[in-house]
Amino acid sequence: MKKLALHWQILIGMVLGVVFALIMTQFEWGSTFVSNWIKPFGNIFINSLKLIAVPLILGSLIKGVSDLKDISKLSQMGGRTIGTYILTTLIAVSIGLAVVNIIKPGHSITDETRLQLVENYKGDADSKIAAAAKQKEAGPLQALEDIVPSNIFQAASDNGNMLQVIFFAIFFGIGLILIPEEQSKPVKDFFDGFNEVILKLIDIIMLAAPYGVFALLAALIVEAPSADLFKALSWYAFSVILGLLLMMAVYTAIVFIFTKRTPKFFINGISPAQLLAFSTSSSAATLPLTMERVEEHLGVEEEVASFVLPIGATINMDGTSLYQAVAAVFIAQAFGMDLSLSAQLGIIVTATLASIGSAAVPGAGMVMLVIVLAQAGIPEAGLALIFAVDRPLDMCRTVVNVTGDAAVSMVVAKSVDKLGEPNVKDWNDHYKN
Ligand code: ASP
Repeated sequence: MKKLALHWQILIGMVLGVVFALIMTQFEWGSTFVSNWIKPFGNIFINSLKLIAVPLILGSLIKGVSDLKDISKLSQMGGRTIGTYILTTLIAVSIGLAVVNIIKPGHSITDETRLQLVENYKGDADSKIAAAAKQKEAGPLQALEDIVPSNIFQAASDNGNMLQVIFFAIFFGIGLILIPEEQSKPVKDFFDGFNEVILKLIDIIMLAAPYGVFALLAALIVEAPSADLFKALSWYAFSVILGLLLMMAVYTAIVFIFTKRTPKFFINGISPAQLLAFSTSSSAATLPLTMERVEEHLGVEEEVASFVLPIGATINMDGTSLYQAVAAVFIAQAFGMDLSLSAQLGIIVTATLASIGSAAVPGAGMVMLVIVLAQAGIPEAGLALIFAVDRPLDMCRTVVNVTGDAAVSMVVAKSVDKLGEPNVKDWNDHYKN
């Protein structure tokens, strides 16, 4: 029997999950059933992806850096990676601002809806504001200070910090480059084997992907807020989604211009990772699949992918920055505030930094949005306005976050002459593509 391609399997899982949840909500006991008996499988799937993320980043970055063999190559690639990431984020925020200023979704919010939303979501908004308060108190160099972990195990722990893991891996890789070959060889061989094991584990986890996304989407649907609120916020949601679609178009254009790879090639290669990003709302959980797709289906050599993608999953969040720009201006509009040009330029800077600081997990972009609001003098309580539709928008912006990382990895690979042809490994043959 011919196996369906992975993106079809995932898509079917998603659709069936939605249909199943819609049927279940017709029964009184349906939602509880889904929460008790279906949702845990979604959580197990996400946990297994997250479980693999830290060893994957450690193993592949250490190997990636040590394979570069000299420090100047590392700084060249590092500079290009960070530079391109910042550039795409600036483009994303600018698109977000343009869209929200043209559509003006905030003007469609009536006083009545505003009051209702604030009342419904005040508690949720307050908890995000409290979470953001900690970040706000930090001094100007706190972000830099936070990159260096004092304990690698703590950094890699559940509440840990991916940037710290990345720092350690790069640091370790540099050490490996600097010691004599005969001493570094066994360590490198170890990480070679280690990486192969991790890739195999990803492969096994991906066998469960269609079932995992089924459970995730079913749980989301039964827990979704009422459709009326959705309607009130539809112009806002439309603005975010339009902006995100434009950003996708920008990626395909960038990839085509710099690497001559067609949009079809690019989207075909990355689509399973996009669907997984949509289902999990987490760039970190999607990272294992993003790496596999980029290396094997987009032709980016491992050396580049293993360096560019973990960093991207952590700091390059174009979808998040675009959403933060739209949301900030939307809230201002809904409160009848007119934002000056300089306030909007300020949003470009803060949304860029806030997206870099957002963790690659569901809902993180909203916590950091508080900081953007505070800087621009927009009432933080406005967060309550956008709560009802945040999860679906989170799903969409995570797709853009992941796509952006993949696009940049191709551009960087091309610039250092490491972009080859797709190379689908044999052991991967359980899904045909
Ligand atoms: N969920 C997003 C991500 O993981 C971050 C966000 O909340 O915007 O990429």
